[in-house]
Amino acid sequence: MSNQRFDAIKLIDQRQVRKFDLPQDERGNELKVSEYFGANTFNLLSQKDKLPKDVFQKLQATVHTGKKLDADVANTIAHLIKEWAIEHGVTHFCHWFQPQTGSTAEKHDAFLTIEDGKPFEKFSGSQLIQSEPDASSFPSGGMRTTFEARGYTAWDPSSPIFIMESTNGKTMCIPSVFISYHGDALDEKAPLLRSMEVLNKNALELLHTIGEKNAKRVVPTVGVEQEYFLVDRAFFNLRPDLVMSGRTLVGGQPPRGQQLEDHYFGSIPPRVLAYMQEVEFELYKLGMPAKTRHNEVAPMQFEMAPIFEEANVAADHNQLAMEVMRRVATRHGFANILHEKPFAGVNGSGKHNNWSMAVTTDHGEENLLEPGKTPHENLRFLLMLAATMKGVMRHSGLMRAAIAYPGNDHRLGANEAPPAIISVFLGQQLNDICNKIEAGTNIEQNPEAAVISLGVSKIPSVSKDNTDRNRTSPFAFTGNKFEFRAVGSSMPISFPMTVVNAAVAEAIGEVTESLKKRVKAGKKLDVAILEVVKETIVETRNVRFEGNNYSDDWVREAERRGLPNLKRAPEAIEQVLTPASKKLFTGLNILSDAEIHSRHHVMLERYVKKLSIEGEMLASMIDTMIVPAVLKEQTATATAIRAITEVARSTDVSEQTARLTAVTQGLNELLTKRKDLTAHLARVGKLEHETDKAHALANEVLPLMNQIRAVSDRLEDVVSDEYWTLPKYREMLFLA
Ligand code: ADP
Ligand code: MG
Repeated sequence: MSNQRFDAIKLIDQRQVRKFDLPQDERGNELKVSEYFGANTFNLLSQKDKLPKDVFQKLQATVHTGKKLDADVANTIAHLIKEWAIEHGVTHFCHWFQPQTGSTAEKHDAFLTIEDGKPFEKFSGSQLIQSEPDASSFPSGGMRTTFEARGYTAWDPSSPIFIMESTNGKTMCIPSVFISYHGDALDEKAPLLRSMEVLNKNALELLHTIGEKNAKRVVPTVGVEQEYFLVDRAFFNLRPDLVMSGRTLVGGQPPRGQQLEDHYFGSIPPRVLAYMQEVEFELYKLGMPAKTRHNEVAPMQFEMAPIFEEANVAADHNQLAMEVMRRVATRHGFANILHEKPFAGVNGSGKHNNWSMAVTTDHGEENLLEPGKTPHENLRFLLMLAATMKGVMRHSGLMRAAIAYPGNDHRLGANEAPPAIISVFLGQQLNDICNKIEAGTNIEQNPEAAVISLGVSKIPSVSKDNTDRNRTSPFAFTGNKFEFRAVGSSMPISFPMTVVNAAVAEAIGEVTESLKKRVKAGKKLDVAILEVVKETIVETRNVRFEGNNYSDDWVREAERRGLPNLKRAPEAIEQVLTPASKKLFTGLNILSDAEIHSRHHVMLERYVKKLSIEGEMLASMIDTMIVPAVLKEQTATATAIRAITEVARSTDVSEQTARLTAVTQGLNELLTKRKDLTAHLARVGKLEHETDKAHALANEVLPLMNQIRAVSDRLEDVVSDEYWTLPKYREMLFLA
């Protein structure tokens, strides 16, 4: 018996655990991680080290205030960066950016220049600051037709320059934003940076209003828990669905799935651990602070989480992490699968975005969502908490849109991930405090007493334990940060984080106004704060939910509360265009009206493309892999029945015939539905508007694909193992 699947299984059996060499010092001792962490980045330390003091300060000013660098300074920086890069063996540089494709883009350029016949290495200030890649092949959502075809990348000096190593050379990557000729954002990063700017401005104003005069800068901090699957490459290569769309379009359930619950936090298989260690090694050199690793719920599912960083750096680092994870997987004979739902019936993958705000003062950095030690600190905490809830409540539809990624639809609300309804979980203790504040009456008369009686003075005891029990909420407070858990595992985090930053910035602005009015009217500051907190908590009551978000009761309850429940991406994406969303983006100068429409278009287009590819892929797999296997089975069974009855005419072959009938009926059903699929896809192709296409794909094509899959999976259970060439779930998920 032989087929390609069996060959793959044999090959996997012979795989070795891959060893790589850690860097060593002169005496041959392995370096500590802290000794090579960030070695391939031009980070703050190398900047301080390499740049003249005044140049360093000007660069820092650019980073923190967005002030333009003058040409001299840029040239000096470029020269020193070039020296640094050449020392590291770099030959090329590129502007590294995040077009709206879900991944990163780079166009390499050599340092090599020839002048008067003389070759030398050159890198100028203008090459550092700006570049002009051919923008026409990146999605722009109509921006190009409305505006101009040209696009520019511009250096984002707040994210460290890094060196990418490959087998035969090194390339210096300059993190950049990607904008059109007129300055419209064409990428994921520019809006994120704009949202951070507004959040900084509004949060600082609020802090100054409550008397924190030495607050200098507020940044959103983000730590991304990244889930993923590993599948042996030998299997992966035999699954065109995994290769083309990142998820399996057919595949029968294994007899043992997650039922035994033995995988979560179990011991990590040696080959996988070796992989994780090499991923971390590569990331450390890039200055990406990978911190935790463990098994996840599903077999062959794992997670990596870094130490949190400023939102834009975290966004860059998550893109890098996904890329490095994919690349290193090949070295270990694995494929890294980042899709939200690679295997039906098995838990999918998410990307919890842990989010908070940090303020820099003369005394260092403080987490604004960390309950404090004094009543004042706790009032500040409650203000920030309330403002966050206010932002989330008003823009819950937009937050749902921000996580509307094609793969995420298979996961949201599938009793393994938060539902498509956005609500906030606070944990019992904090929720009790909110309830008390809501009911509290003696604020005006005796603010000090109110602070104590409402529990405001003793918030420090909010323990992580207390908040971490409910894993079903899409936006949960976990001690000193919110965790946006509904983000898909394969998505860039920039847009979801842009939306959270923007929504909270807007709410903070309104809270500040309300506060200022009260103070102006002669209220004591603490009274005014407590009143605003109360007002906001009352206002956001409907978005708070402490129960089980997976339950049907919650779906009904949420409907009563008027919270949107947008089940599928196409309807969720429409939320980008609501008046509230438009006001948010344009009002805070994060996206212009044209940019909003462009993004809406790109999101729909991505959905349509992804699903169309899946549809075509499924059709092809049915035609070229599944039908032929079933035909073989049919022939073999028919031949056997004929052979038996020829030898002994009176043999009872009713069971064999029943088997043949089952196979034949299954095949007929498969072929009929397969024909329908082509018809549907053709019809979708003829629709004019992207919105209609998206809806047709979601409501007609996807259900049909699921039906086809069900028939195919039934056949998989009957057809001889030898004829079935597609690696099965029981193999992909259990053999490594
Ligand atoms: P979990 O129980 O969800 O695994 P962890 O404490 O391990 O929680 O943290 C998960 C992520 O949250 C990590 O990436 C961590 O760096 C990040 N995190 C912790 N504090 C903050 C913060 N103040 N802002 C943003 N992210 C944070
Ligand atoms: Mg986790």
